[in-house]
Amino acid sequence: MFKSLFAAVLVMALATVGCGGKVWSKEEEIRIGRDAAARLESQVQVSKNPTDNTLVEKIGQKLAIANGLKWPFTFKVLELREVNAFSLPGGPVYITRGLLDLTEGDEDELATVIGHEMGHTEKRHINQMYTKGLAADIFIVFATHGAVYDAARIVQALGEMRFSRDNEYEADRCGILYSYKAGYNPNAMISFFQKMKKLEKGGKGDIVQNNLRTHPLTDARIEAAKKEIARVIHSVNMQLAIKAAEGRKN
Ligand SMILES: [Zn+2]
Repeated sequence: MFKSLFAAVLVMALATVGCGGKVWSKEEEIRIGRDAAARLESQVQVSKNPTDNTLVEKIGQKLAIANGLKWPFTFKVLELREVNAFSLPGGPVYITRGLLDLTEGDEDELATVIGHEMGHTEKRHINQMYTKGLAADIFIVFATHGAVYDAARIVQALGEMRFSRDNEYEADRCGILYSYKAGYNPNAMISFFQKMKKLEKGGKGDIVQNNLRTHPLTDARIEAAKKEIARVIHSVNMQLAIKAAEGRKN
């Protein structure tokens, strides 16, 4: 059943841009993401708990507004046990039940995770992969994977669209900046990474495995995030101080 999902997404993508891997227009990107989201949500259970969806929607919209992000974002919780988050092109962002539980509803942690995913959207990373012929390959891999299709497989297929290391670092930097500018504590990205590590060490590697494959949690990545948090806090505060000083002059 899931075969048809990604085959359909692939056909849609190819029909839109041909095989050359042209850059999608923003409108095309939004339509592709929307169609893929509709198919995904018809087959993977979106949380029926309004509190959960309201929470991630509230955080996501706050991040978008504070950072002037113009994509038509949607934020939803998927009923999947694994710890993961991902975004489709042009706006749809998903958090799994496993991830929501791991954060225990900590809004700062959720903000850095959601901000990371919004970074992939804002920087148009899937489109970049598509132009390099990478995104389409993954859709094909998914479409030919055999008969064992369950909800986890679909998310895994999205997860197998491995972004480059540079894309991941860029998304981390976005998550830090977006969350700080929206009034969240960006250090929560580090506490979230630590929770993931603990889960992995505690033998629960199976439920974090997919996330770690797509977002490798290397020491270098954690160190880079720590440095970026310090840099962002400093630079945003400097900008605020300059604005305040200018305000006093006028
Ligand atoms: Zn990522």
